[in-house]
Amino acid sequence: MVDLGSVNAPVPATDAEMLAVAAAEARLGLAEGGIPIGAALFGADGTLLGRGHNRRVQDDDASMHAETNAFRNAGRQRTYAGTTMVTTLSPCWYCSGLIRQFGITRVLIGEDVTFSGGHDWLRENGVDVTILRDPDLIAMMQTFIAEQPQLWNEDIGVDEP
Ligand SMILES: [Zn+2]
Repeated sequence: MVDLGSVNAPVPATDAEMLAVAAAEARLGLAEGGIPIGAALFGADGTLLGRGHNRRVQDDDASMHAETNAFRNAGRQRTYAGTTMVTTLSPCWYCSGLIRQFGITRVLIGEDVTFSGGHDWLRENGVDVTILRDPDLIAMMQTFIAEQPQLWNEDIGVDEP
């Protein structure tokens, strides 16, 4: 096991290393029986400020998205300038709103194939957006959607009969 969470962990240097933290959170959520979306907030110097995953099922809370969970776990920051929100999946409108509201500078997205949220809107509004299209993350979401279509539709707000 790689320790990605301790305060004294080495500062991630690359996008792949930052995404690995969010991906580990997504897998943790999946193992808990939840929706496999993970996120992490990094400071301007690369320090991990907070990490989290979608907890809709675990907390019975529709508002506990991965980005929101990571943001809350980061605690109160004096400024969000220079921070990077890393998320395994393109952020929904709610989380895109959070990113804009608090002036998060950069968003690093694992994939936008299974779901495309507000990243174009963020880009149009000056947020630095990078999309990696990680094949492992795409495969994980596709498997989850095939196995749990009702839970997935609930999470993205699609009403299914
Ligand atoms: Zn969201």
